[in-house]
Amino acid sequence: MSLVNLVGLTPADLEDLAVDLGASRYRGRQIATWLYRKRATSLDAMTDLPKDFRATLAQRAFIGLPTVDRVTASLDGSRKLVLRLEDEALVSAVLMPDDDRLTLCLSTQVGCGYGCTFCLTGTMGLTRNLAAGEIVGPLLVANGLLPEDGRVTHLVFMGMGEPLANYAALVAAIRIITDARLGLGYSPRRVTVSTVGLVTGIDRLGREGLRVNLAISLHAATDEVRGRLMPVNRSWNLAALMAAVRRYPLAPRQRVFFEYVMLAGVNDSDEDARALARLLRGVRAKVNLIPFNDWEGSGFERPALARIVAFQALLIKAGVTTTVRWSKGEDIGAACGQLWEPVPA
Ligand code: SF4
Repeated sequence: MSLVNLVGLTPADLEDLAVDLGASRYRGRQIATWLYRKRATSLDAMTDLPKDFRATLAQRAFIGLPTVDRVTASLDGSRKLVLRLEDEALVSAVLMPDDDRLTLCLSTQVGCGYGCTFCLTGTMGLTRNLAAGEIVGPLLVANGLLPEDGRVTHLVFMGMGEPLANYAALVAAIRIITDARLGLGYSPRRVTVSTVGLVTGIDRLGREGLRVNLAISLHAATDEVRGRLMPVNRSWNLAALMAAVRRYPLAPRQRVFFEYVMLAGVNDSDEDARALARLLRGVRAKVNLIPFNDWEGSGFERPALARIVAFQALLIKAGVTTTVRWSKGEDIGAACGQLWEPVPA
């Protein structure tokens, strides 16, 4: 029988496992506490579990965390962690400090199958989905690298892959991350799921009742331009996407984030800004403009600073909250749309 990775099992799964092994649900809760709250990395560390139960557990399960392949520090303070999974696949997680926040950008797939034309990750194609433990693992590793009192404060699922295309693992990971009693205890308001616009996935996530933030990789305000940049727009056009956004349940002061990568001469005109303002009318929205981060052979360019500022000004004038997000980690290949690792043969 193959061993189960405990990392990635929700507290409820761990209770079920304990019962399966002939123990009480309480034992499962103890395992969850050790794994997710006390940062245990071995079964032996779980000292309040009876020795014979630990031995039984070791025959069925293990604690599988990714290993750190390398850490690259950027001049702006962000750090890219490249993590090696059991099958040698590499995934990235990027730590981004900002005032009193420490945000970790997590991946959900090895590579990505959506092929957005401006995105380097898209050129990798999709290798496979990550298991829930492989999504949460990098967070546990990142927290373990920080000083005793330090901890990642915010999480964004904006790394490699499309989170909603790996739905079950994503939701299990979010349950572990947000479980206040036995999981990692993050407030859902500090967790953001970013999607390319999978309408059925957005609806499902809304019904899940997780109350996490939703971010949409929008990047264009007309079907004509979006269709050229993002093949997914052929399956769900802007009307379908915006209808799903309007259905997503929001708490009183919660907003939907819209990511908009700025590409010179493609989506950065005054008319594009006006079209974007029209599209977002009546939506509690916040737009993040991301000046394009170049990569070799991309065929795109970043607009001049004056153009970016003018675009932002038009949106603000139209009443749309808009910030320019100068990506972190551009010099280390960790910025938005730049995550790429070789796929093992
Ligand atoms: S932008 Fe996101 S969805 Fe599009 S190819 Fe890149 S990783 Fe995939």
